[in-house]
Amino acid sequence: KSATIPNVDGSVNRIEDDDEDDVVDLAANSLLNKLIRQSLVESSHRVEVLQKDPSSPLYSVKTFEELRLKEELLKGIYAMGFNRPSKIQEMALPMMLAHPPQNLIAQSQSGTGKTAAFVLAMLSRVNALKLFPQCLCLAPTYELALQTGRVVERMGKFCVDVQVMYAIRGNQIPRGTDVTKQIVIGTPGTVLDWCFKRKLIDLTKIRVFVLDEADVMIDTQGFADQSIRIQRALPSECQMLLFSATFEDSVWQFAERIIPDPNVIKLRKEELTLNNIRQYYVLCGNRKDKYQALCNIYGGITIGQAIIFCQTRRNAKWLTVEMMQDGHQVSLLSGELTVDQRASIIQRFRDGKEKVLITTNVCARGIDVKQVTIVVNFDLPVNQAEEPDYETYLHRIGRTGRFGKKGLAFNMIEVDKLPLLMKIQDHFNSSIKQLDPEDMDEIE
Ligand code: ADP
Repeated sequence: KSATIPNVDGSVNRIEDDDEDDVVDLAANSLLNKLIRQSLVESSHRVEVLQKDPSSPLYSVKTFEELRLKEELLKGIYAMGFNRPSKIQEMALPMMLAHPPQNLIAQSQSGTGKTAAFVLAMLSRVNALKLFPQCLCLAPTYELALQTGRVVERMGKFCVDVQVMYAIRGNQIPRGTDVTKQIVIGTPGTVLDWCFKRKLIDLTKIRVFVLDEADVMIDTQGFADQSIRIQRALPSECQMLLFSATFEDSVWQFAERIIPDPNVIKLRKEELTLNNIRQYYVLCGNRKDKYQALCNIYGGITIGQAIIFCQTRRNAKWLTVEMMQDGHQVSLLSGELTVDQRASIIQRFRDGKEKVLITTNVCARGIDVKQVTIVVNFDLPVNQAEEPDYETYLHRIGRTGRFGKKGLAFNMIEVDKLPLLMKIQDHFNSSIKQLDPEDMDEIE
């Protein structure tokens, strides 16, 4: 399994060596995002477009009607509750549905409508009367493939003869049977196997090829090369589409290798800021002190819902038990849970079933609970070198400038960690005030 370890905790909070650190797993994060996403992510940025042929006119659409879709497809879109195209869809859909087909590389953060866009493209190009695979979508994991398949099923609800098949490990096709489903979604290894070894898919008949989550894909050993082998066998008139939430150089290099003559669409990510957040710190001696300070804050101000971040699973568990014993409604979100379990904890918290969510770094990104106005750093985020982890601090506490609400952040700091906090303050050039937990008047 490939994963990056962003913040291995320092020694101070580590009680025993078996205290496992939570690692960030890109595919799991992406799945979590999909499971908890309820609506489009807003953006105040303009969509940037780079056309393959800059002299051709650039179309954008404000309504789905303008796309002249099949009746049953339009019905499917409205049944999903979509009223108008998202920001990225306004530009991407006319290109994706153009005749002759155009290739596209599109990048925008998760939740901006990429999946819905390519599902629409696949459904609009598929011929329901032809019983063989015509659209092929590569995804990094089994679970992500299933999520995309669900969107195909929902959007294609009225396209009754169109069906989806999953090319994923464990999906056994008996010898001698043909794949008659028009849309195949799968992971690169299994798709490769189905195409070349088992000859279940004739790549020369594919009309739309989608490579989803390119950034997650290249993070997995072998997937980039397998995807390229599949792409090489596609006919030249096949439409090729690639999507990614992020766009580092490595993703870009891969995208350019696999998508010939592409149009490129990018939507910049909304920046997080600390501008609307009042930040405080409380000096504490040890863990018990920190807890006491937390209780004082709780007693001192009216708190709706709060998220508390700990650096290790062990600390998070300890704090959860302490708070529960004191009668608080608390839930614990940490890395040993499955993605489904995490999603359901976040959902319960969103629904207000618990007032406090205690979590570790693994969950710093991905939780976006709008009603939360209080964030507590029970431990400061630090990296392996025991330096402040600025990015994680920003992700825990920051809000997007235009859409974010005002908030409060409390840092529980052991005296010897104060220099780290000062570095954070300097880094962001924003003030973090000391708070006397016995005197909460300062805040309200
Ligand atoms: P991405 O692939 O960029 O993560 P999705 O296509 O999954 O984004 O869309 C994110 C969420 O927004 C999903 O819940 C999806 O159903 C919804 N959505 C997508 N397009 C629209 C639209 N045009 N109008 C309303 N909701 C949309």
